[in-house]
Amino acid sequence: MKTHLKNVFGFDSFRENQEEIIAALLNKRDVFAVMPTGGGKSLCYQLPAVLSSGMCVVISPLIALMKDQVDGARANGIRAAYYNSSLTISEKREVDVAIGNNSLDLLYLAPERLSLDYFFRDLQQRANIAFFAIDEAHCISEWGHDFRPDYMVLSKLKENFPDTPLAAFTASATPHVQDDILMKLNLVSPFNILASFNRPNIFYQVQRKIDVNSEILDFIEQHKDEAGIVYRTTRKSVEKTAAYLKKNKINALPYHAGLDSEIRKKNQDAFNKDDIQVIVATIAFGMGIDKSNVRFVVHGDLPKNIESYYQETGRSGRDGEPAHCLLLHSYGDEATIKFFIGQVEDEKEKKRNSAKLASMSSFANNHICRRKAMLKYFGEEFPGTNCGSCDVCSGKFSTRDATREAQIFMSAVLRTEEMFGRNHIIDIIRGANTQKIRMFNHTEIKTYGVGSEISNKEWTFLIDALFAKDAIMQMSDEHNQIKLTDRGRNILFGSEKFSIIEPVKVEKQAGISKISRTKDYNKALFECLRQVRTVIAKRRDIPPYLVFSDKTLHEMAREYPTSRGAMLQISGVGQVKMAQYGKFFCEAIKEYQTEHSK
Ligand code: ADP
Ligand code: ZN
Repeated sequence: MKTHLKNVFGFDSFRENQEEIIAALLNKRDVFAVMPTGGGKSLCYQLPAVLSSGMCVVISPLIALMKDQVDGARANGIRAAYYNSSLTISEKREVDVAIGNNSLDLLYLAPERLSLDYFFRDLQQRANIAFFAIDEAHCISEWGHDFRPDYMVLSKLKENFPDTPLAAFTASATPHVQDDILMKLNLVSPFNILASFNRPNIFYQVQRKIDVNSEILDFIEQHKDEAGIVYRTTRKSVEKTAAYLKKNKINALPYHAGLDSEIRKKNQDAFNKDDIQVIVATIAFGMGIDKSNVRFVVHGDLPKNIESYYQETGRSGRDGEPAHCLLLHSYGDEATIKFFIGQVEDEKEKKRNSAKLASMSSFANNHICRRKAMLKYFGEEFPGTNCGSCDVCSGKFSTRDATREAQIFMSAVLRTEEMFGRNHIIDIIRGANTQKIRMFNHTEIKTYGVGSEISNKEWTFLIDALFAKDAIMQMSDEHNQIKLTDRGRNILFGSEKFSIIEPVKVEKQAGISKISRTKDYNKALFECLRQVRTVIAKRRDIPPYLVFSDKTLHEMAREYPTSRGAMLQISGVGQVKMAQYGKFFCEAIKEYQTEHSK
């Protein structure tokens, strides 16, 4: 197994759980593995597929993804193919022949293909199947969030292939969904893996937003040349943010369900192939993003639950190299989501969604280790008190006393008899001249205009913090009147202080987790190697990360391998990639060395 790990994939050691899963499959045992994104699930079936005499049939939900998966396997010299409606008749015939000849290691299929009776029978009669691998196995459960009716056909597998082991993989499964998967697939005393959901190479940062687009821009400017995803809630905000970034010279494109499917596909492709740096997207973007070199994810708005947040941030750092996730949120975001939850008719669902939102909001507003909080939500205890790679644990924030500002605001609330909403109060303290102010004679209020030097956005930020501290509350009637709580009164009358947490810029290096900090590499050389990678990828029409991952290029830019032997020592360089691409990278490194020794 180890030899093949090195020769085929170029890796020196297994990641957690991989070896056990592979051994179980080679011993013809069923497998059920819940592993986080980036945990290395594909290797768990690809390696035993190479070692087995028959082929592994991989069931994968997205036809659009199969090509990348097959290209990736082929780049390592694995005999892989997919069979779906996008193939021409002659391509289909070719795969048919390969199935009959037993000359494939991996065959990727969408479940709807198995629903076709003739195809299913044909497989049964002609194919030599070593085992089945079911990717995204949670799609079989109605309890999950990605239920796909087509997956139901997989319930027939055990009955029709009683002696063929079946391995089910998923990155997202609550206990309920897990039971459902086991039952629906009829797994026979499977080898069970429930891996930790911790993603040690991701740095988490959460802050209240003041001016979202410029904050996003600021962040991206600290991540020059790195690929990243920016999530926004609505199509309109996606368009706005994308336009703002473009105007500021960031190579970004939008992605949302309102775009023509051709354009959507084109933009996703451009991102996948490193032709653009940033994709600005609604949550419509994601399922099936296998790109391993996503270095950051920014949420421009509060997600509606921790499950989505975990999944979306999880799309970064799949290659195990450091990644940085920033969440920007405001009280207004929460109110918007609440509004939409209010529209849901099913009472049970409404309750469930509200509870999930409450957890998300408390995650964002509390100041406890992000990693600990998130893992706890999924029922996992993070050991230790300091994770070393979130904003809380690394002390990347400062607190500032804001009692005086709080008093200005709350005094205006009291003096207008707690009858008005936040916007009107802000108008009063900023000294606005609106019709409403004139009508109520609010220029007479003692705090009229005393907060004029603080911007509207900053007031919003402050008021959000007052909400988070439970100093004020908002009536949910149509007037959105703001009232003071007991704590609010204490602050107003001076018996309690009020301080706010202000973000300080997380420097890029500091943003890199202690646990995963890779030794420094030569940045200039990495850039050269990246260009070589892009050229090769273009020529082969595959995404650059399938040529070599960022992790592999980082290692090259640290070790300077210029011979075949040295190159093969690099993690990620297997025999086939060495033969196909190795010399280009050796040459580039030599050239770099000569140029820099002059
Ligand atoms: P998942 O499907 O679980 O999200 P992938 O199979 O896409 O994860 O693997 C994520 C990344 O980790 C890929 O770039 C893969 O090449 C890499 N990887 C997998 N196993 C190993 C290993 N043993 N050593 C180093 N890198 C690995
Ligand atoms: Zn932490």
